[in-house]
Amino acid sequence: MLMRFFYRGFLWLLVSVALPGAEKEGRVMTLKITILSTMLADGDELGEWGFAALVEADGRRILFDTGEHTEVVLKNARSLGLDLSTVTDVVLSHAHSDHVGGFLTLRRSVVAKAPMGLARTHVGEGMFYPRTSGVPRVEGNPMIAIKGAYEETGGVFVVYAKPVQLFRGVWLTGPVPRKYPERNGGGRGRVTTPAGVVEDNVPEDMALVIDTEQGLVVLTGCGHAGVVNTIDYARTVIRPERVHALIGGLHLFAAKAETLAWTAEKLRGFGVEHLIGAHCTGIETVFRLRADLRLDREHAVVGAVGAKFELGRGIDARKIAK
Ligand SMILES: [Zn+2]
Ligand SMILES: [Zn+2]
Repeated sequence: MLMRFFYRGFLWLLVSVALPGAEKEGRVMTLKITILSTMLADGDELGEWGFAALVEADGRRILFDTGEHTEVVLKNARSLGLDLSTVTDVVLSHAHSDHVGGFLTLRRSVVAKAPMGLARTHVGEGMFYPRTSGVPRVEGNPMIAIKGAYEETGGVFVVYAKPVQLFRGVWLTGPVPRKYPERNGGGRGRVTTPAGVVEDNVPEDMALVIDTEQGLVVLTGCGHAGVVNTIDYARTVIRPERVHALIGGLHLFAAKAETLAWTAEKLRGFGVEHLIGAHCTGIETVFRLRADLRLDREHAVVGAVGAKFELGRGIDARKIAK
């Protein structure tokens, strides 16, 4: 009990002292991003409708999203030889089950061996807002139940209403202003905000952005805020630099031709140099964007479990996506 008290105190100290704004602005020099959950898999790993990735930036390791099924990211990380017990920080891009499904299993898998493992989780404001589920009186936001269970293990949530630099050169956008009318997901659901009940456009949706000498590296979960809104905002908040790599789910799998054409034109304007279109980006969308962005098959691929992007080395797509 006493240990737990001290441990909690230490975590809060970590949250309040070591975080936001404590380090100077700067660029990340070494960066590797490995996909841990997406639909496509070609080895011993499992595919699923979900997303997760491990970010390794200048020695800092961050788990971004946790997949849909409770065990998939755990199994895939083991299969890929990645030890998540030494990862202290988690980012959950938004509250949908295909991004938060493995979260508790992962924390519980490391807590005995490493109490600080996956112990601090960064989320956008709105993460815990109640949602409709389509079934009367059934809560549609899984994070409401997950919150208590995670805190029970000693985990701490940090909620952001604004952009923040987590570590030197590693940024979270926080909730993204919807400047352009991109309507990527959300749909019929309703969300209860402090201002009342409104259409659920996934207000908490945020991206991780890494600032490098080569440009910005943008990692999205589902891209519900819109990939153009997200990059536009990141370039306003961090610096108006080209996008060296865009990785993650863009939620464009069902987008109409004119939406894709508009998106591609904007992405070309942002100077996107590498694309790993994973999860809900859509297969056809990746190939369309590859053509419109004038990229080749080394620089634009469908994301697979185990696929990597490494600064200075580019994309390792895995067999199936080469
Ligand atoms: Zn989603
Ligand atoms: Zn998703």
